[in-house]
Order: sequence, then structure tokens, then C-alpha cells
Amino acid sequence: MLASNAPVYTAKTLAQALQLRADHPEAVLLAGGTDVMVFLEADRLEAPAFLNLWGCEGLHGISEDGRKIGALCTWAELKEHPALPMALRACARTVGAAQIQARGTVGGNIANASPAGDSLPLWLAADARFTLQSLRGRREVAASDFFLGYRKTALAADEILVDIQLPVQKGELYYKKVGTRLAQAISKVVLGAYVHQEGGVVRELRVALGAVAPVPLRCRALEEALVGGPVRPELAALVHQDIRPIDDVRSSAHYRAKVAENILRTWLGSLRGC
Ligand SMILES: Cc1cc2nc3c(=O)[nH]c(=O)nc-3n(C[C@H](O)[C@H](O)[C@H](O)COP(=O)(O)OP(=O)(O)OC[C@H]3O[C@@H](n4cnc5c(N)ncnc54)[C@H](O)[C@@H]3O)c2cc1C
Repeated sequence: MLASNAPVYTAKTLAQALQLRADHPEAVLLAGGTDVMVFLEADRLEAPAFLNLWGCEGLHGISEDGRKIGALCTWAELKEHPALPMALRACARTVGAAQIQARGTVGGNIANASPAGDSLPLWLAADARFTLQSLRGRREVAASDFFLGYRKTALAADEILVDIQLPVQKGELYYKKVGTRLAQAISKVVLGAYVHQEGGVVRELRVALGAVAPVPLRCRALEEALVGGPVRPELAALVHQDIRPIDDVRSSAHYRAKVAENILRTWLGSLRGC
């Protein structure tokens, strides 16, 4: 139940959602509500109104080839979809527990833009594109251009995240979450990575980390050092050139930095000879 008496506008179609979004720019979008409810209960969100997207046709579904994911897809849907990369399905299995996976959506995770959001490094690593729509039109934004600052995104006040598009990939995606437990744990560090190798040479590499800076970020120094040569796990230490971890209730900056380097070294080590 909402801890608020604010009006709730409900959209059944994308067209209705866009109209309501334009008419009520003050309304807080509600997908699964698993982040919004926490903020409301903690008195950290002012919501004069809500725009309920849950049940809105046109924002659901995953294409058969797994390349287009509706913003309202839940983690439960993602973890079962056979055409999605295994790393994405693995990520879906680590979000919350069964209840959150049944209700929480990928779009909510992305738009909420928590630096510790589990899926965010994976979208960066996959070079995903987000489709944003308003009555003014539709545009695509690369995941690497979407996260602008702490919980700040490229979404304009009248826009809705409609879907996520994954490019065709020759290489492999990888995912690793480090938290206190396997379930119901917010990440202390989360890694999403993509590599394409040919004849022992790294041709394409995207390495992204979450919970180590105000935004999920690409580890550019490491990427630049590795592309065009063999995998060298010892270069994992280059990650410190990009990350800016902090101390908070979940972990210390020192621990996060150490873990980020360690999980990268382990992953790079596993790629040798691939
Ligand atoms: C107990 C618990 C455990 C959790 N565990 C994890 C975890 O392990 N890992 C993790 O990453 N997260 C976790 N979360 C956070 C949350 O469940 C996820 O981020 C979830 O994916 C959010 O999706 P939602 O649909 O519930 O978002 P909502 O709460 O509905 O929305 C979140 C934000 O996104 C905006 N929004 C939603 N949909 C759209 C859209 N289509 N377009 C534009 N803006 C939109 C909303 O306005 C709001 O600002 C947990 C939360 C709880 C309560």
C-alpha cells in the first residue's frame, strides 16, 4: 500500500503513459515500485503524484532473439529467457530474492541509477542502448552516455525509458557481484565485462564497475592497456586509475578497491588461452 495520499494516474498503453507524463511532469513514475517504496517509507522522496506504468502494454516483453528488452521486464522474466546472455541471466538471479525478482524491473533499476544497481555495469559492458520516448519523439542513448552523476540520468522530465537494446556480439559477457550474502544483499562491488579475443589477442574489451564511484563506470585505462595485445591479468591494478570508491555503511573504500582489482585479475586470468 502507498504510504501517501497522492493521486495515482494509471497508463494502460504507451500512448497513454506518454500523454500522462506530459500532463503531469510532477508525477513519480512507478514500475515495480521496489525502489520507490523504500524512498517513500524513508521520507526521502517527495511525490505529489504517481504515474503507474505497471501493466502498461508496449513496455513488456523480450524479443525472441534477446536483443530487445522491454523496460517493464522483471528479473524473474530475465533469468528464464533462453536467448539472453548468460551473464545477464546470472545478474537477474542475484537481484534481491524471489519477491523482488517478481516485481522489480530492469527499467526501474536503470532509471533509479543507484551506483550499486546490479545490472548497470552489464549494460555498459554490453554497449547497450536505451530507448527514451516522450510526446516529442523517440531517441536512443548509449548506456555509456546515460548515467550523468549520482542518481542523475539523461532522462528528460517528460521521457519514459521504453526498452533496452543489445547489439550483436562476437565475444562474451561476464558478471560478478560481491555482497554480504548471495541473496538480499546490495553490491559492495559489481563487475560487468565484455571481451572478444582472436588468436590470443584482445580485439574488443569493455570493463565496467558499480559501487566504486558515484556512477557505474568504464575502466578505460585497463581497456586501453589490454586491447591489441594478449590478456595480462597483472594489469588489473590499472583499475585504480578510474575508480573512486568511498566508505559507507556497506563497506570501506579500501575493501572496495581491493576487491575490484581482485575480481578483475581473476576474470582476466580465466580468459588466458580462450
Ligand atoms: C529488499 C530489496 C532488495 C533489493 N535488492 C537489490 C539487488 O540485489 N540489486 C539491485 O540492483 N537492486 C536491488 N533492489 C532495488 C530494486 O529492487 C531494483 O532496483 C529494481 O530493479 C527496481 O525496479 P522497480 O520496477 O521496482 O523500480 P521502481 O521502484 O518502480 O522505480 C525506480 C525508479 O525508476 C523510475 N522508473 C521506473 N521505471 C521507469 C521507466 N520505464 N522510465 C523512466 N523511469 C522509470 C521511477 O520513477 C523511480 O525513480 C532491492 C530492493 C529491495 C526493496
